[in-house]
Amino acid sequence: MPEVKDHELVVVGGGAAGLTAGIYAVRYGLDLVLLAAGAPGGQTATATTIENFPGFPEGISGAELIMRLTQQAQNTGVSFDSAEVQQIVPDQGRWRLLTDVREYMTTAVILTVGASPRRLKIPGERDLFGRGVSYCATCDGFFYRGQTVAVIGGGNSAVEEALYLSDIAEKVYVIHRRDELRAEKVVADRALRKPNIQFIWDTVPTEIRGEDAVTSVALHNKKTEEDSEVAVDGVFVAVGYEPNTGFLGDLIELRDGFIVTDQRMRTSQPGIFAAGDVRDTPLRQVATAVGDAAIAADSAYRYVAERR
Ligand code: NAP
Repeated sequence: MPEVKDHELVVVGGGAAGLTAGIYAVRYGLDLVLLAAGAPGGQTATATTIENFPGFPEGISGAELIMRLTQQAQNTGVSFDSAEVQQIVPDQGRWRLLTDVREYMTTAVILTVGASPRRLKIPGERDLFGRGVSYCATCDGFFYRGQTVAVIGGGNSAVEEALYLSDIAEKVYVIHRRDELRAEKVVADRALRKPNIQFIWDTVPTEIRGEDAVTSVALHNKKTEEDSEVAVDGVFVAVGYEPNTGFLGDLIELRDGFIVTDQRMRTSQPGIFAAGDVRDTPLRQVATAVGDAAIAADSAYRYVAERR
């Protein structure tokens, strides 16, 4: 028989949302454990500088923010287990979490397992990450004032990032693999009207070039089969996100793989809540993730309190 731990709440995920949910839930007096598969931090920990998180006028590195959040969680009394959740199954009105280490029985669950930006998997992308290659215009766009950047993708994220960047950079190329945008018409039309946004259609990037920083991107036109190169100072990859929801199977309602919640962060399953990047949400930022997490912890508290 595997070891079974019993709690009122299990928070799954150790990024900004998970840590915040833990801090709030402890302060509500819930008996909880936070499960993180590796070191806490999630995507936040990889951000070089976060300049838009309120309260840090000089900006703060992602690693520092996570260190402070982790410290705060520990000071508050959040207990941590290192375990990767593999399955969640209903068990007599509660939830049983199967992990690689042991099982957990719990009344409520807050899922904060995050999402990862999809990679292009082309030469230069990994080597120049943080030196011109970015997956977040809201985070890094500021550095490209008056410069030339490329956005890869044709969805809402790519077009919204292009619009955002067009107010900062001098010129923005949008490189899309088809001749029609996936983005919603309203936002697409706005981008198509912007004089400093130039669309490069039917084209995929084949290499991101530069020694210490990005200097150009190599392109291949899928219709004409022509190869070309465009000089840029930055490349913003916006080809979608991959939510870390594979382990959920068909337990919870998902939209494009992301967890659907209501405004109290309730999922389609009673007692299971979600917060942060894994949630179906219009903006994936630390500020929104921690806001979600506070609401999720409040909802989980109410749910547990009614069943005590
Ligand atoms: P998305 O809708 O999946 O779009 C990804 C885009 O990248 C598509 O245009 C796709 O091309 C392209 N792409 C995918 N893989 C590629 C590759 N390997 N090489 C080149 N191009 C590639 O992703 P998203 O834009 O991040 O949006 C994700 C979800 O969040 C969507 O449901 C979106 O509506 C939503 N969202 C909403 C808002 C909002 O409402 N304000 C803002 C952002 C995102 P194809 O078109 O050819 O498939």
